[in-house]
Amino acid sequence: MTVVAKFGGTSVADYQAMGRCADIVLNNPATRIVVVSASSGVTNLLVELTQANLTDERRLELLKSVAAIQYGILDCLGRPAEVASELDKLLSQMSVLSDALVLNRGKHLMDALLSTGELCSSLLFAAVLRERGARASSFDVRGVMRTDGHFGRAEPQIADIEALVSTELAPLLKDNLIVTQGFIGADEQGQTTTLGRGGSDYSAALLAEALRAEAVEIWTDVPGIFTTDPRLAPGARALEEISFNEAAEMATFGAKVLHPATILPAVRRQIQVFVGSSKEPERGGTWIRHQVEHPPVYRAVALRRGQTLLNLHSLQMLHAQGFLAHIFATLAKHRISVDLITTSEVNVSLTLDKTGSDSTGTGLLSEALLQELAEHCRVSVEDNLALVAIIGNRIATTSGVCRRVFTVLEPFNVRMICQGASPHNLCVLVDEKDAAPVVAALHSNLFETAL
Ligand code: ADP
Ligand code: ASP
Ligand code: MG
Repeated sequence: MTVVAKFGGTSVADYQAMGRCADIVLNNPATRIVVVSASSGVTNLLVELTQANLTDERRLELLKSVAAIQYGILDCLGRPAEVASELDKLLSQMSVLSDALVLNRGKHLMDALLSTGELCSSLLFAAVLRERGARASSFDVRGVMRTDGHFGRAEPQIADIEALVSTELAPLLKDNLIVTQGFIGADEQGQTTTLGRGGSDYSAALLAEALRAEAVEIWTDVPGIFTTDPRLAPGARALEEISFNEAAEMATFGAKVLHPATILPAVRRQIQVFVGSSKEPERGGTWIRHQVEHPPVYRAVALRRGQTLLNLHSLQMLHAQGFLAHIFATLAKHRISVDLITTSEVNVSLTLDKTGSDSTGTGLLSEALLQELAEHCRVSVEDNLALVAIIGNRIATTSGVCRRVFTVLEPFNVRMICQGASPHNLCVLVDEKDAAPVVAALHSNLFETAL
């Protein structure tokens, strides 16, 4: 049995946290490969370093903050010479790349800079495992995680990854515990790419798929997948098990605990996914399985903030054909994935899937796109919206769901509703300021009230 264990940013935030993760790894001999994120806060600091017009003073401050996090861990390890010199190299690469970005705003440089966070944490985590007597080494995942060249939001090339993993990585696992990086990859030319924010979960699932592993463990800061984000509803409870479908819907609709693409490789190879807390592994967690017994009508409430609604108005739509095809072709050309859509006689409203936005958070709606759309219709954009999704099963075919949900929503303004396309969700778009109260009210009614 082979298990891939992934540890997120808070799990590898400092030496103590890494120690807890090392115990989890060493307690399960089936764990042969460990995927780590950058230490908590590091990617955010690096993203700020990629922004334009930073003062030299701020750039220095940011670099110092990253170095302080990484050296804090190195100091606790007793500064082993080899690790110290590798870490120095990575930190000086960081500084060189941030200098280069002042003159050249190339996306390839941004990805190269962002990748240094994961390169540091994997180097340090392997040393923490070795300190505990394990035969562990860090492995540069760019040798196997082949992607296309779309910097900031690169697409993994599944067949290439499988071939590279079997020749370059699998043989190393026989007598080594391998620690590698999530989130980063390389294109055919060997240039560093990233998979988009939160992408380490996806990396772990891709490696598990390529290695034909039986399970992926996602170790994070909560003991499993909850009925909603526990930060939003104190009554949220951890789920023992959920199905791939339910988990995929939750992730797509904003449950940050899992990157939305994570489920795809798991479904392709029927790999079980476990989500648990590296701080409290004894509390167990959630198993995501192909099938679960008794899937309930209501499983969870998910929230995705920062939504943009695009309203398109055109009289051409009236009794015409091909208008939507035109709009979708334009959006596809700009690599925009549409999320929700409602149409009326002469209007189309759609929300944009921000999970596709790139690692540096660059906006999706470019001037070029808006101009191109404006050639076909009148365009208006609304911001400050949030999408709340009720996730479950048989939603579209169970009577009483809408009455119950809309009774709860009565005090709020609902900007858009989507229901019916999927049996697994009912979504409403609300004002950002109502987002938390809407989630709390829905959660309380659907999960905390005995009917
Ligand atoms: P990591 O750094 O380990 O990848 P993330 O911050 O990406 O961790 O994801 C964990 C966070 O996801 C939790 O702290 C929690 O606030 C949030 N979250 C959102 N929805 C859910 C949910 N349904 N269940 C559990 N956690 C959730
Ligand atoms: N470090 C990256 C991020 O913060 C990837 C991840 O944590 O999954 O987005
Ligand atoms: Mg995450």
